[in-house]
Amino acid sequence: MNPKLSNRVNQMATSATLAMAAKARELREQGKDIIGLSLGEPDFTVPNFVKNAAIQAVKDDYHSYTPVDGYGDLKQAIITKFQRDNKLTYTASQIVVSTGAKQSLANLAQVLLNEGDEVLLPAPYWVSYSDISKVAGGIPVEIPTSINSDFKVTPEALEAAITPKTKLMIYSSPCNPSGSVYSKAELRALADVLVKHPNIIVVSDEIYEHINYTEGHVSMAGFPDMYDRTVTVNGVSKAFSMTGWRIGYIGAPEYIARACNKMQGQVTSGANCIAQRATIAALQAQPSEIQYMIDAFKERRTLILGLLAEIPGIKANEPDGAFYVFPDISYYFGKTLRGKTIDNAGDFALYLLEEANVATVTGQAFGDPSCIRISYAASEEDIKEALRRIKEALA
Ligand code: PMP
Ligand code: GLU
Repeated sequence: MNPKLSNRVNQMATSATLAMAAKARELREQGKDIIGLSLGEPDFTVPNFVKNAAIQAVKDDYHSYTPVDGYGDLKQAIITKFQRDNKLTYTASQIVVSTGAKQSLANLAQVLLNEGDEVLLPAPYWVSYSDISKVAGGIPVEIPTSINSDFKVTPEALEAAITPKTKLMIYSSPCNPSGSVYSKAELRALADVLVKHPNIIVVSDEIYEHINYTEGHVSMAGFPDMYDRTVTVNGVSKAFSMTGWRIGYIGAPEYIARACNKMQGQVTSGANCIAQRATIAALQAQPSEIQYMIDAFKERRTLILGLLAEIPGIKANEPDGAFYVFPDISYYFGKTLRGKTIDNAGDFALYLLEEANVATVTGQAFGDPSCIRISYAASEEDIKEALRRIKEALA
């Protein structure tokens, strides 16, 4: 807390995912052999057809400010992608391209929330939903779930959390951090509750859409009675391994898209020109072009689940998508290991960092203090070595 700073930032938590990654980087610089399983960041290189589009954009002298909501032909590629992959029909005035899906989410919170509006977050939820809402004046309302229900919210729990002040619900499927994927029937059951409360807007974060090991991906906006009340968020960070290129986008009711455009026009202007040109190539590619990454993630999921199962006291669900496992480690609470008492998931993650040199993230940051998040967007060797070290440190 520094009184010279605004209450807004003083009350804000530091992003736990980025903080853990920074801590791991710092320890590595001190010469420690840290294995980083904290950050949700694919370890693949960017596909060549995307790189080539970026190189071509530089050669073609793209350099100017871009339209605030994105190049027209990129928006067209997004419209075609939404239609092709999600059967969602959007027009250009409903699309806004941003500097990462994180900015898309921040724009949405800024344009939709007034002071005191409640934001429903089925927990565990992605770490930034909560602080992005708070900084816009919203009040996060966590809806707890448990590993026994595969970390999915039930219609009853959703209904019970709704109040006259509820303005937004934000969720991701496939979910970061749990990897859970809502089926069509499960989402429909949630939609049946939401249609009874027409003032609630749903933000459906579909950034892990392609990293899905089930039958298929379901978009909330695909239900005709939810289309006008749902914002679909997506981006290229995960599916195309383009985390540092910083491109995300939304498909939204037109009045929301216009508001995001206005907000972004005052805050950042349009997203990076070269990355936008590259994103056109990424989105125009058939999903089969990136299947090799999904196949690798699936193999790593099997590997990490097998290795976790060998460690006593760790209870993991089988994630259906994304590249995280979110095991319950509460068995260790109250235990003293190598002279260190583990009182919570934060202590546990710190213990793993210090004693096993493996970086993970406390579940507390995602609204579930019994768990930790382990990212398996890492090489098989790193996963094997990390789990060997964790097993040894916990023995
Ligand atoms: N939503 C979820 C669920 C995420 O895991 C991430 C991770 N980066 C984001 C949004 C933000 O993605 P981007 O890199 O596009 O800002
Ligand atoms: N979304 C990734 C994660 O959850 C990247 C980090 C971040 O953007 O916070 O690890």
